[in-house]
Amino acid sequence: MRRAAALLATLTLLSLSSCGSPTHSRAAIFTSPAAVSPATSSTTGPPAPASSPSAQPSGSRKAPRKSGPGRGPDGAAKITGTDAVALTFDDGPDPVNTPPLLDLLKRYNVKATFCLVGFRARDYPAIVARIAAEGHTLCNHTWQHLEDFSKRDDSYVRWDLKATNDAILAAAPGAKITYFRAPYGNFNPRLDGFAAELHLKPIHWDVDDETWRTDRYGTGPAMIDHITHEVQTFTRRGSIVLSHDNKKPWTATAYAQLIPWLQARFQLIGLPA
Ligand SMILES: [Zn+2]
Repeated sequence: MRRAAALLATLTLLSLSSCGSPTHSRAAIFTSPAAVSPATSSTTGPPAPASSPSAQPSGSRKAPRKSGPGRGPDGAAKITGTDAVALTFDDGPDPVNTPPLLDLLKRYNVKATFCLVGFRARDYPAIVARIAAEGHTLCNHTWQHLEDFSKRDDSYVRWDLKATNDAILAAAPGAKITYFRAPYGNFNPRLDGFAAELHLKPIHWDVDDETWRTDRYGTGPAMIDHITHEVQTFTRRGSIVLSHDNKKPWTATAYAQLIPWLQARFQLIGLPA
């Protein structure tokens, strides 16, 4: 009982220490199966390298955050170039967490940009097709989100980016894939060159929801508060906001509050396709 009381007190404290945004809905976080059992997927199929797919989301401890000039590592755009704000969602498609996010975006008539991982696009083509059909912008986020992607040899990188595009296009024939986002934001000129061969433009971010930092910010209501705080504190005119849908049940819950908050302050756009 003491432990339960302490937990309740902690949750109450976390709630009170949030950013002063409207009260969050806490329900979804406890009902999503993704919170307890991550989906498994295979990378078998195309001749992928030996490593297994990383479950790590975007975001990099090395990457500059939140402010600064309009270009991130190696010139990748960090801002939209206009007053409009672009929401970007990385690492999906996720069969559990992407559909509720799409529902939310549709309800508020918001277009966003989805940075898709190739093998997941292969595994969940219907979600890719829906993302494209609903007018969101598409971004190649590599085949399997390797941490050392920037160190892979030319033949691998060329294969990886092409395989990812092919998986997206198999799911959404004729769709336009406009952007490339390196895993963890680890861009470099060589990667950008291979992306350019596929007419992909590197895209960074200037606001990071840090959904991946569960070690520091926890999960559940604490993470929902953290996402809300980061986005509300650091989004400014022209921001590109990095969030995550894959295996992140907190994102849609946070955005149920954040989208109306953002719409009251900014124009929200999908990045130009
Ligand atoms: Zn990522």
